[in-house]
Formats: sequence, structure tokens, C-alpha cells
Amino acid sequence: MAVFVTDSLVIFRHIVIQFVINWSGGAMSTEGKRKYKFSWDETVGADMQVARPNLGPTTRIENYRLFQFTLRDVLEQHYGTETADTLFREAGFLAGKSFYEKFLKGSANIGTLANNIQQWFNDLGIGIFRVESSSAGGDHFIFTVDEDLDCSGMPDTSEVICIYDEGFIRGILESFSGKGFDVREIDCWCTGSRTCRFEATGTNGMVL
Ligand SMILES: [Zn+2]
Repeated sequence: MAVFVTDSLVIFRHIVIQFVINWSGGAMSTEGKRKYKFSWDETVGADMQVARPNLGPTTRIENYRLFQFTLRDVLEQHYGTETADTLFREAGFLAGKSFYEKFLKGSANIGTLANNIQQWFNDLGIGIFRVESSSAGGDHFIFTVDEDLDCSGMPDTSEVICIYDEGFIRGILESFSGKGFDVREIDCWCTGSRTCRFEATGTNGMVL
């Protein structure tokens, strides 16, 4: 089944590669020496009619997962589970901020933002996004993602694995609100829940 995951895959690849390169090489001394500084326009935004005139802008989910889970394996072997997760979360955060700038900017309120996320997640084949609960003050949310690109259908391991999505959702929320959020996955397909559930809690800090 062909799915519309090319955009997600390209975002994911370039952001994760950037973090791996930076991490393995230590702190970068100057911005000018970076090889993989993320740019939407130069990567995700490439003109696919020119780049892939025959294959087009779609790929299969196997490609996305093959890339993600081989990279996770290698990161974990080199740096341990905690650092691998930290890198994935940070990459997801950069992706979420970029995704907001590209698709969600201008959302007038949290309801519109949620509707736009839902539409884009659906259109790009990322997952079926819903807001399960929202506090009146806008500092606490529960989101769910069904048929998640990262984990849906994988074995039960009692571990939440959608670390990248944690950062992704945080990037969106902080870009929208200008306030700090902590986002954690509290249920996952891999914990037997058959949906991914994320809790977002305001940290009472400003980020912009
Ligand atoms: Zn999950």
C-alpha cells in the first residue's frame, strides 16, 4: 500500500542525521562548518516533479521504519538507550517547529490548531490525531494518535517508543503558544494500548 510519507520521511532523515553528526563530532565550533543544518526548502520542500518525475512524492511505510529503526539500533549501541531517546526527542522537536512554520502557522486558537494538525497528519499519513482532553487554561492536554507512523502494529514490549513524536508535539505547542511544554507518551501501541496517548504539561516558562 502506497502511503504519503515522503515528507515525513525526509524531515525525519535530515533532522536525525543532523543530530547524529553533531553528537558524534562533539559540539560544533561554528555554524558555518555544519554539513546538515536542517532546511525545509532544500530537503522536504524539494520539487518532486523534478526530483522524482516517475516515482512521484509517495513512498511506502517500510522505508520510513527501515530507516528509523536501523538508526535507533545503531544510536543505542553507540550511545545507550537514554541518549538515543534524547537525540530522537530533540530531532522531533526541530521537526515539530519546522512543521508548525510550514503548515500550522496562523492557527487562530487551540481548536483551529488541533483541526489543522488533524488534517495534515491525515494528509501526510502520519496518524489519526485527536484531542482527548484540554484544560481551560491551555496548559494541559491529552492527545491521541491512532495508526501512528512510528509504532502501529509493532510487538507489545511494555515500552513507549514514540519518543520522536514527543518532541514533535512539543515543537508544535511551543511554537504556537510561546510557552514551555513537557510532552510524554503515556500509552503506546507497544504497551498494548493500540493508540498512542501523549500528555502535554505546561512548564510555566516562556520559550520565545
Ligand atoms: Zn506510540
